[in-house]
Amino acid sequence: MRASRRLFLLLLPALLLFSSCSRRGEEHTVTFFAMDTVMGVSVFGPDGQEAARAVQAELQSLEKLLSVTDAGSEIYAANHSGGAAVEVSEQTAGLLSRALELCESTDGALDVTIYPVVKAWGFTTGEHRVPSEEELSGLLERVDYARVQLDAQTLSVPAGTELDLGAVAKGYAGDRAAALLRARGVESARLELGGNVHVLGAKPDGSPWRVAVRDPDGEGYAGVVEVTDRAVVTSGGYERYFEEGGVVYWHIIDPRTGRPARSGLRSVTVVAPSGLLADALSTALFVMGPEEAAACWRSRQDFDFILLKEDGTAAVTEGLADSFTLSGDWAGRALEVVRRD
Ligand code: FAD
Ligand code: MG
Repeated sequence: MRASRRLFLLLLPALLLFSSCSRRGEEHTVTFFAMDTVMGVSVFGPDGQEAARAVQAELQSLEKLLSVTDAGSEIYAANHSGGAAVEVSEQTAGLLSRALELCESTDGALDVTIYPVVKAWGFTTGEHRVPSEEELSGLLERVDYARVQLDAQTLSVPAGTELDLGAVAKGYAGDRAAALLRARGVESARLELGGNVHVLGAKPDGSPWRVAVRDPDGEGYAGVVEVTDRAVVTSGGYERYFEEGGVVYWHIIDPRTGRPARSGLRSVTVVAPSGLLADALSTALFVMGPEEAAACWRSRQDFDFILLKEDGTAAVTEGLADSFTLSGDWAGRALEVVRRD
């Protein structure tokens, strides 16, 4: 049993207090386990209880479509078809086509076919090991997002290649949830999907939501960002990792080497209107490192980032300069503002 699932079961009695949709004022919260993580949905306003339950159902049905390990999922069917084309739902096709575009536009720093390498390191089972160079170079021959063919809703994954949307699916799930809530007339909600936070509108009192960024070196927070109507997604090397021979190996892999990405970063937080974009880019920028991340940001207009670096300093793009503050052990440390010119 994975540690995260064990923790969830341990916390279950406390969580149940909330999962029955507590009604505090007009806040309705549902907490549940999906996509191997604890998810919390807080909806404000009348009919919030029903809306929160609808989000739960939506996220659980998405998991069934997208899970790489569930033998009933569409991704599993594509990975195990021996290269034959399979038909997928509109949702899977929509997510995948945008994910493939992001693989392309990040020059392969994001690669949704990295799964064979992730498996070899044991991140999927918890049986961690350090693969040899030879094994990694053999596996990397099977990794290339460009080999995945998607034509409308017809998907072909060549034999030997394996698709895994783990780096983008929670972000997409946030987008789906936000759209569903908006369609129900909800104006204020906060979704916590593992490390991803997605907020709808402002807080009920009209002030921005305050979203904390985890301290990668401890239990507390390194900073707080104030946002409305945004996804705030963090990728870091401190959540899923193992240590061997004094070296720490984490789950974000550089597709060029097949090894954990070591680019001088401890974590990357991306703030964007789109959860899918924020999730894809938080993983990709972690692979790229600070300079390439800044160049990627300058080349687009649709996101901002917060970098916590291995040298103990931080950087933030100018769009967040006034809304992000360092706190806890990071308070008072150097905070570079990355600008467009
Ligand atoms: P992110 O940075 O967003 O993504 C990192 C993850 O993406 C890695 O864990 C790896 O799987 C993959 N990855 C690593 N490097 C790259 C790269 N360069 N490009 C693209 N992808 C990369 N976990 C379980 O243990 N058991 C489960 O049954 C399970 N079911 C899941 C079902 C769904 C639908 C989803 C979305 C996730 C599930 N997970 C499960 C978790 C999943 O395996 C990842 O560990 C998780 O999504 C990592 O997300 P993150 O936010 O921590 O990191
Ligand atoms: Mg991601």
